[in-house]
Amino acid sequence: MIPALLSNYAPADLSFEKGEGVYLFGNDGRRYLDFFAGIAVTSLGHAHPDIVKAVSDQAGKLMHISNLYRIPGQEELAQKLVDNTFADAVYFCNSGAEANECGLKMIRKYFAENGQPEKFRVIGFENAFHGRTLATIAAAGQEKLLEGFGPPMEGFSQVPVGDIELVKAEITDETAGIIIEPVLGEGGIQVVAPEFLRELRKLCDERGLLLMFDEIQTGMGRTGKLFAYEHSGITPDIMTSAKALGNGFPVGACLAVEKVAKCMSVGSHGSTYGGNPLAMAVARTVVDTMTEEGFMEGVARKGARLQQSLKGVVDRYPSVIEELRGVGLHIGLKCKVENGALINALQKHGVLTAKGGDNVVRLLPPLIIEEEHIVEFISALEAACEELA
Ligand SMILES: *Cc1c(COP(=O)(O)O)cnc(C)c1O
Repeated sequence: MIPALLSNYAPADLSFEKGEGVYLFGNDGRRYLDFFAGIAVTSLGHAHPDIVKAVSDQAGKLMHISNLYRIPGQEELAQKLVDNTFADAVYFCNSGAEANECGLKMIRKYFAENGQPEKFRVIGFENAFHGRTLATIAAAGQEKLLEGFGPPMEGFSQVPVGDIELVKAEITDETAGIIIEPVLGEGGIQVVAPEFLRELRKLCDERGLLLMFDEIQTGMGRTGKLFAYEHSGITPDIMTSAKALGNGFPVGACLAVEKVAKCMSVGSHGSTYGGNPLAMAVARTVVDTMTEEGFMEGVARKGARLQQSLKGVVDRYPSVIEELRGVGLHIGLKCKVENGALINALQKHGVLTAKGGDNVVRLLPPLIIEEEHIVEFISALEAACEELA
């Protein structure tokens, strides 16, 4: 007999009864400081009163209606996102992978609608992560994601991040676009140089390619800007968001400029749940909160403050932590010891963090952390490092 639950995860033997702000309460009777936020999802913390109210008010009125009818909440939220980004139009779905599927389909559709259906290939980057659907695992191209699932979907290739000449060399007459995370999150908080993003923009303009940013992890305030592209001074043609957009309620979005968005004609794409009234009520509350005066400045300030303290710890324990990476509150500690060992030691000291690629421990605290939580985290990290050094 196998367990009734599919064995595709290997969860830690710990569950939680409830969460409150930046804290989680475990079934082991302990309180934990949450420095992973459900993998960059619960950015406004647990049981945020405005989110709780949005869910319960909307659930008591109307959760779902389908896209057979107008959903005013979609129109309102799309307008808010358009007002706060480069984009001209937004499509709503239920997860990150789905948002990327939409973006990748948009790239192909744009060229098909413009009389160049032979252009369908998308260049991605090594160590990227774009989700678990057949198209998104092909876009990331990592063997560990593709293994066992047959021939990868055609039309994707990868080059290393950072060398524009290698990107140029990869372009053929069939190339339609480029997909990149401004910070490779699952890959281990590998920050892409803004200069490289600007080179990609220039290359796409020169060669008539579409530039797509996967901001599923970097977006919604994680880096101290609403979206990470704002640090680079350039804008993509397509951008995806999910994770923190619903603060735990499943919702994703694909944003695009007009010339791309207008190619998605009636019937070309869709989702039964996508953009349902409940998801829209929650995401609207998240966007409203994050676009309040001073919110993003606060995230940037707390990110700088936390990173400054982390630098001190990294300097003191070089045998445990090799390097500090990150932007804002999107932070990685590249470990000398096995990353799982640091995560376990931190958990023992009451702090929860997440693994990343490249032997990194990811620090993804809720954006609402305060000075006292930074102090609490640093003292737990010092204790953990002391043990491992
Ligand atoms: C999490 C993530 C995804 C996938 O999102 P899901 O909601 O798990 O489908 C895609 N891209 C990036 C950069 C992510 O961090």
